[in-house]
Amino acid sequence: MHSEIIKTVEFERPIMSPLSSGASCTAQAWARVPSTPTPQEKEVLKARIKRLLKEQKAVLVAHYYVDADLQDLAEETGGCVSDSLEMARFGRDHPAQTLVVAGVKFMGETSKILSPHKRVLMPDLDATCSLDLGCPTDEFTAFCDAHPDRTVVVYANTSAAVKARADWMVTSSIGLDIVAHLHAQGKKILWAPDRHLGGYIQKKTGADMLLWHGSCLVHDEFKGIELGLLRREHPNAKILVHPESPQDVVDQADVVGSTSQLIAAAQNLDADEFIVATDNGILHKMRMAAPGKRFIDAPTAGNSATCKSCAHCPWMAMNGLQNLADVLESGRNEIHVDADIGRKAIISIDRMLNFAADRKANTRPISDLSKEEKLFSGIGPA
Ligand code: SF4
Repeated sequence: MHSEIIKTVEFERPIMSPLSSGASCTAQAWARVPSTPTPQEKEVLKARIKRLLKEQKAVLVAHYYVDADLQDLAEETGGCVSDSLEMARFGRDHPAQTLVVAGVKFMGETSKILSPHKRVLMPDLDATCSLDLGCPTDEFTAFCDAHPDRTVVVYANTSAAVKARADWMVTSSIGLDIVAHLHAQGKKILWAPDRHLGGYIQKKTGADMLLWHGSCLVHDEFKGIELGLLRREHPNAKILVHPESPQDVVDQADVVGSTSQLIAAAQNLDADEFIVATDNGILHKMRMAAPGKRFIDAPTAGNSATCKSCAHCPWMAMNGLQNLADVLESGRNEIHVDADIGRKAIISIDRMLNFAADRKANTRPISDLSKEEKLFSGIGPA
């Protein structure tokens, strides 16, 4: 029977004054997590979703962090499983007039901004992100207004209104290249909202970056000391780290990269064992891409009372087979973006897309293994 639990989620909420940065407090949000259907229920739901996708001429676009059943369904039905930018690009370029986005709200919004004439549905419109929650438009606008001499670069994990205030939007795999490009032009950067990714890029590029103090509640929980202990138990394992993780975790990485780049590294690196510091939803795709290899979650607080995410995003977990089938049937949960905001936001997104297209021949990976570019050939800029 279909049921759901409401999970209380604590996340780090930046406290920013227009002229200073660096403080945060703990805030609370919630996530409505659907129960796992039985194997029989799953088969019925999957068949229903496949039928509805056909009837509605819709395409399913899923993120690497959502439930494995949804990822499989997306691929089996001609949709895609990817990172946030590729999701939006795939949706924009696909002929379907209805996009069903399994992910979190900013992903649905980016898809809508890139495809304003398409219908964009999501299994649950309340699926959010601690980076988005921690960067409210009014506070962010005041911060930008206090620093008019800086070029505003925002991460994809922000609301449409924040993207509309930015000069550039970037994703984790192209952020380093874009900041390096702006730095070479002598520009000073205002970066938001992920302070770990911003700090990583700042260190790599030497750019003058003023950082918003946000964090991803999944990646922020990875622990450097415990990772060091785990490495001793698995001396041959390669360490794969998403740059939203704290610096003492990033410092131990063999590869630092976006979700797509970490999957490529798992497939191409000459190793049988990997410790993975990103949302564990990605392990499904890694196991498919590199069968026979062993993947181990990087340590968080474990499944203890103090574990906020236990390496899986509570908002990504809001996407289930049941609510996916329901929105396809009802047409509920459509994403709308204010037309004026959409028109402004697309400027910052298009800047990134055009930059990526210019470099498409060989987009440099955001990675400590950037010397080994052959590992990443064919990886797009998302
Ligand atoms: S994994 Fe982190 S960055 Fe991604 S949606 Fe969840 S909270 Fe946001």
